[in-house]
Amino acid sequence: MIFLFVSAHPDDLEFSCANLIRYLAQKGHEVKILCLTKGEFGIFDQDWIGPRLARIRVQELQKAAKINAIPPEKIFFGEFIDGFLKFTSESVSEIISWLNRLQPDIVFAPEAFYAYYFQTDHINCGKIMYYIFQSCQDRLLKPIRSLFFYNTLNPNFWWPFNDSTLGKQSFLQHRSQWWFIRWIMLFYSLDKVNFWWKRLGPWKYAERYRRISKISVVHNNTAEISGDDTLIKITNSDSMDSMNSNNSSIGSMIFNRILSLISHLPAFNPTRERYKVEKASSEFAQKIEKLCDRFYPE
Ligand SMILES: [Zn+2]
Repeated sequence: MIFLFVSAHPDDLEFSCANLIRYLAQKGHEVKILCLTKGEFGIFDQDWIGPRLARIRVQELQKAAKINAIPPEKIFFGEFIDGFLKFTSESVSEIISWLNRLQPDIVFAPEAFYAYYFQTDHINCGKIMYYIFQSCQDRLLKPIRSLFFYNTLNPNFWWPFNDSTLGKQSFLQHRSQWWFIRWIMLFYSLDKVNFWWKRLGPWKYAERYRRISKISVVHNNTAEISGDDTLIKITNSDSMDSMNSNNSSIGSMIFNRILSLISHLPAFNPTRERYKVEKASSEFAQKIEKLCDRFYPE
């Protein structure tokens, strides 16, 4: 059984999935990580933006994953650029070829619909995986058996644990992101507290996931899933409101609301201004200009 954890940026997994990843790897399962960008715009300092920051962040993820028992050779990096992961047919094809290379049975991706973190790369990553899972399985050499979303407001699967030390430690390996992580860190435990009504037994904490059920009718870029009291429409638009957080604990609800507000701040929302490159290599600068012309035209 091969498990694949897909993320948009190098620091996305440790907050939400560290304990499950470590458990699976230590149990001898094959666990792979596919990070679609290298987080090239993860800080605002022009001296670091681009390939220089990318190199650092690759190493940070390798260090973090090592704590969770994943060796560097199980970590793969896509060619997308931070801020430019879009839900297009090209990205779908690109990720399908990754899936055909890595051949996972079970895939984890960021929540696309019941999300609380609205960074567009995250949302698009979730949408692409959802779209592939629901309607492109015929293009996969090996079908995906299950898709799970992490960072979800609407969990239906909990991964319980008692000791948060290693999870926190792995998250803290992303040193270049401390400007952000030191605030998020305040919520690490609160986000996962197992309140007694969650019926998870004696466990102190739990990571939250939403397991996606397969649907039958899909056409073009539009899919519809209905079941329970859920109706989700998937479209090629970037705005998808979160709803229905009644499955979360109070701790995670507080955290989710705060992060949701933060993720709507201009700093987290791609604009042409946000992706100004002054000091990076000219090759990188040219690439960014082209991407900006396409996705953030003036
Ligand atoms: Zn991210």
